[in-house]
This record gives sequence, structure tokens and C-alpha cells, in this order.
Amino acid sequence: MTKILLIVAFTIGIVLWFKYMAGKRDVLPRKEKSSEDMVRCESCQVNLPRSEALLSQGKFYCCDEHRRRGD
Ligand SMILES: [Zn+2]
Repeated sequence: MTKILLIVAFTIGIVLWFKYMAGKRDVLPRKEKSSEDMVRCESCQVNLPRSEALLSQGKFYCCDEHRRRGD
């Protein structure tokens, strides 16, 4: 009987874990996709995903320092 309870608890744990992971994926949409748009930093010319780039006056930058330098 104890074994059955353990299996049930284990199953519930897995279901909750999957729900947690699914919720996490909604918070960070498409970040792991490799087909994401790549943009180039105006300052150092490095390529980076659009979601990680900083946009300023229609130009992309890899970091805040380069964005300030580019302005
Ligand atoms: Zn840069």
C-alpha cells in the first residue's frame, strides 16, 4: 500500500514539474530557437539575437555601453 502512495505522489510530482516547465517557457518565448533574427551591433559589429540586442533610434547595440557610444 505504501508503494502505491509513493507512485501516486511521484506521478503528481512529475505532472507539477511539467506544468512548471511549461509556464517557464511562456515567460521566455522563442529564446532557444536558433532561427531567431540576428542583428549586428552598430559599434563593434558583433552579431547577436534580436531579443538580446538593445534598440536605439533604429540601430541595434550589443550592450548599454556601445549604445551610449553609438549615440
Ligand atoms: Zn557592441
